[in-house]
Amino acid sequence: MMRPQSTNAPQRAATPGTEALYRMLPPVHQLLGTAREGDAAHPRRVRAIRSVLDRLRAEIGQGLLTASSLQQRIDDLPRAIDEEMNREIPRSLRRVINATGVILHTNLGRAPLSQRAIENVSAIAAGYTNLEFDLDRGERGRRDVHLAGHLLALLSQSAGADLTETHSAIVVNNCAAATFLTLHALARGRHVLVSRGELVEIGGGFRIPEILEASGAILREVGTTNRTRLADYERAITPETALILHVHPSNFAMEGFVERVEIEELAALGKRAGIAVFADQGTGLVELLEPLGVRGEATMGARLTAGCDIVAASGDKLFGGPQCGLLIGRRELIEQIRRDPLYRTFRVDKLSCAALEGTLIEYLYGEHDGIPVLHMLRTPGEEIRLRCERIAGESLHPAMRVEVVPTESLIGGGTAPKSKLPGFALALQHQRMDVQALLDALRRREMPIVGRIEEDRVLLDLRTVEPALDALLAAALGEIANRGAEDVAAKGR
Ligand SMILES: *Cc1c(COP(=O)(O)O)cnc(C)c1O
Repeated sequence: MMRPQSTNAPQRAATPGTEALYRMLPPVHQLLGTAREGDAAHPRRVRAIRSVLDRLRAEIGQGLLTASSLQQRIDDLPRAIDEEMNREIPRSLRRVINATGVILHTNLGRAPLSQRAIENVSAIAAGYTNLEFDLDRGERGRRDVHLAGHLLALLSQSAGADLTETHSAIVVNNCAAATFLTLHALARGRHVLVSRGELVEIGGGFRIPEILEASGAILREVGTTNRTRLADYERAITPETALILHVHPSNFAMEGFVERVEIEELAALGKRAGIAVFADQGTGLVELLEPLGVRGEATMGARLTAGCDIVAASGDKLFGGPQCGLLIGRRELIEQIRRDPLYRTFRVDKLSCAALEGTLIEYLYGEHDGIPVLHMLRTPGEEIRLRCERIAGESLHPAMRVEVVPTESLIGGGTAPKSKLPGFALALQHQRMDVQALLDALRRREMPIVGRIEEDRVLLDLRTVEPALDALLAAALGEIANRGAEDVAAKGR
């Protein structure tokens, strides 16, 4: 048993009776109750007993206990140990309130899931599933058949053409894996043509030239950074050319003297030359965003109708589903990709499959507003202003100023870098905390609130906050306004 060493605490060793108090503490085995070694709860109970006893020893060491008060504590030990055992293990991965106004915030986990997706995940997670089991035939099946049918049905709708006979789809862990796998399966050791204007880095170290090289494909750069013409592609084609890659420039916009080849022209060139055209579409957009004033974002369906042979997209960007990579393309090419041994290493898990199927069904029912990302994109500024005013009206704290200000939200996730969605935010100023301290205090709560600093105020953009969390947000503002006051009062004492 560990005891404070008397050399470290000479005055305590000198206190008469301290040793006797330590001796009153029961040994661990006496406190185990019915818990036995080998029981699941045994190690946890032992840990709880040790930490309760350690606390008592520390109090004895500090001279805080007499023989009678210690006896009371010892009588109370079973309750204290139970309480210690039931103490929650703090979570590392937690829910946060995203008040940044960035809808697809990669650091905050990108797309929240729809209700249908969540329910499907929890139903599938709780038991066994036919993940890779063909229930008709009673034999081994394929995990992505659950998704390919829905995905092709949805894209047929959006492309206005029946793709179910001519195309196939597979799902992998993310869009980076989808791109890598396609290059590896279809172009390893051969040439891939990419415009110099599309040799971009897409957040998180996904660099097109590096992915290409790692896949074993050989990059053939075409055109220049700002201008690439069809003739540049034509000239670069040789018998070694395996693929033409078209990359969505994502978080990058060029202005001025810019020329790009239309995707239709590129697809037509591919057909003439017998070379597959692969579009890294990225966003997973299903329906145009033009009505929201977001221009220049093509849908997955539009890429297919333009004549691209394969399209890759993320599941958790504008598609609004779980992290995964969607690959849709001409059937023979998708089969070739499926045969690549690396396909197995990028295999998507059953929970993502369940979330993806739930999201796809949401789309197929036409319930786009059930998909949180699409709902946030479409929320009118006026609705956000009313919510801001309600919270500001409830937040009349002498120590904190809460105002409603116009702001612009971003799509994020490397999408439509120049598009801003007009809306409103709460602007906070605290009498006794500077903006950074206020931002930190909001973030360090049990349910963290992540905002941003603008013009010496903390802005909380409600476009990315679920309305159901408004009350919680208002309560948090009250608590932080008062907490500042307590700190000041404590310092004054
Ligand atoms: C986001 C993006 C990727 C990477 O997608 P992940 O799903 O994060 O792997 C690849 N290509 C484009 C064009 C993107 O926008």
